[in-house]
Amino acid sequence: MSSKICLLTNACPVVALMSRKGYLVQTYARRVHPSMQVAFLDRDGVIIKNRSDYVLDESDVEVLPHAVEAVSWLGRNGYGIILVTNQSAVGRGVLTRSKVLDIDAHVVAQFGPARDVFLATYLCPHAPGARCICRKPMPTMIEHAIITFGAQPTKSFLIGDALTDIEAGDRAGLATGMVLSGRGGTSDIQGLDRFRSKAYSDVFAAAKALHATVTEPR
Ligand SMILES: [Mg+2]
Ligand SMILES: [Zn+2]
Repeated sequence: MSSKICLLTNACPVVALMSRKGYLVQTYARRVHPSMQVAFLDRDGVIIKNRSDYVLDESDVEVLPHAVEAVSWLGRNGYGIILVTNQSAVGRGVLTRSKVLDIDAHVVAQFGPARDVFLATYLCPHAPGARCICRKPMPTMIEHAIITFGAQPTKSFLIGDALTDIEAGDRAGLATGMVLSGRGGTSDIQGLDRFRSKAYSDVFAAAKALHATVTEPR
């Protein structure tokens, strides 16, 4: 697997626009190819276990049940996956930018042959209160990924475990679903009725339901 790190360089024109604000993009596809259908997934609590003390090392990565099945199922149904993740541990000074990208590459590598379904990770490294424009619930990273990857919002969706994920997806015009395998299992489900969104047990259940939603005839 080739992994290109695009840290706000000219290689990544849309991201270059954001160079003063600085979200990180790591691409996994051998070449960036337009993918009309994109499953935007939050990372922690959706495909790997959420940790309240942050994922700070590769050894902290624990793939959740049904996540591998979900990723390969999405690939078989024509989706590319873009991870959209807030990693405030970087902004809080407990994780370096290079380490957070290494951990992210390690997450994708856990998916074996299904890792090819992953297109990229968009990552906000800022702490809350840093007034960046990328941290979810801002839709910025999703909106830029939609443009860069040629995703069609009406054929794409977002799955997250926190209300901030759902809000970001909703503001980017995507169908959304919350999984109960992470933070949604506790308090965040309370606010879900503010959005056109439902809760699912895990990422596989959410992916199947949202696929049915975006492919149903209008
Ligand atoms: Mg999460
Ligand atoms: Zn940010």
